[in-house]
Amino acid sequence: MERYGFLGLGIMGSAMAKNLLKAGFNVTVWNRSQDKCCELAALGATVAATPAEVTASCQITIAMLADPAAAHAVCFGAQGALEGIGEGRGYVDMSTVDAVTAKEIGKAITAKGGAFLEAPVSGSKKPAEDGTLIILAAGDRPLYDKTLPLFEKMGKKILFLGEVGRGADMKLIVNMVMGGMMAIFCEGLALAGKAGLSSADLLDVLDSGALANPMFKLKGAQITQGSFPPAFPLKHMQKDLRLAVALGDSLAQPLHAAAAANETFKKARALGLGGQDFCAVFKAVES
Ligand code: NAP
Repeated sequence: MERYGFLGLGIMGSAMAKNLLKAGFNVTVWNRSQDKCCELAALGATVAATPAEVTASCQITIAMLADPAAAHAVCFGAQGALEGIGEGRGYVDMSTVDAVTAKEIGKAITAKGGAFLEAPVSGSKKPAEDGTLIILAAGDRPLYDKTLPLFEKMGKKILFLGEVGRGADMKLIVNMVMGGMMAIFCEGLALAGKAGLSSADLLDVLDSGALANPMFKLKGAQITQGSFPPAFPLKHMQKDLRLAVALGDSLAQPLHAAAAANETFKKARALGLGGQDFCAVFKAVES
């Protein structure tokens, strides 16, 4: 039976790996903080001590890590994923990183005879749990075809976008739009509060017309309740805005709104809100 690896069991990775186990795949997991492996082990996963142990024993290894620094550390670090990669093995990085990081990892994997695919996802904790993510894959086409049965257990829409870097760019653009929407949404809620309007009325008006969307509905309720349990940690949203602004810089594309949203999220991080949900940016806007 084919073995599949999973590196990174945070909010997204643990839910995605669980879906693979529930679908009957033979999965070996690794996480920097070993305690997060227990739940997966109880569902039948094999637990490995290092990323290298995973890539050396699995046909295809998926990574779902925090940011470029984490993706880099897990691939290139001591006993990292790269050490276990060899001819015929695949590495699928589903973390949200920039194209430069994805290409650097891809180049190193292929130089050792492996195949590489980037496959960042759109959708948060609930879609990860429900297996309804949007998967933005790019890179090695045969590896994409081999990984498709796994993607189908994690996502509802799966795209192949071509060369490595295109998945990362697409993902950053989507999250740039999302971060900008969240920033202006929070400014609207804060302004309504100061103008003496009820936030419930504002949410109702927004939800009744062309601006209605699931994010405003879900996050609007959480913001008005002052409840920010992390589904998408704020620090990751700021990372995505930072990387999107850098992408705009590299292509000489002005990004006034995204740059402003990045500053708002940066302020929220400075206020210690990085571990809360990204809608906690409201607290930075309101303060
Ligand atoms: P998370 O809960 O913060 O998990 C991050 C994972 O990265 C954990 O497994 C963490 O290990 C690991 N990690 C961090 N730094 C590391 C390092 N230096 N070395 C090794 N491992 C390291 O984040 P998440 O929400 O699952 O997000 C994972 C990725 O998916 C991010 O790129 C994020 O932008 C993206 N994403 C998230 C969402 C969402 O809604 N949450 C949606 C779409 C995409 P420890 O457990 O040891 O800390």
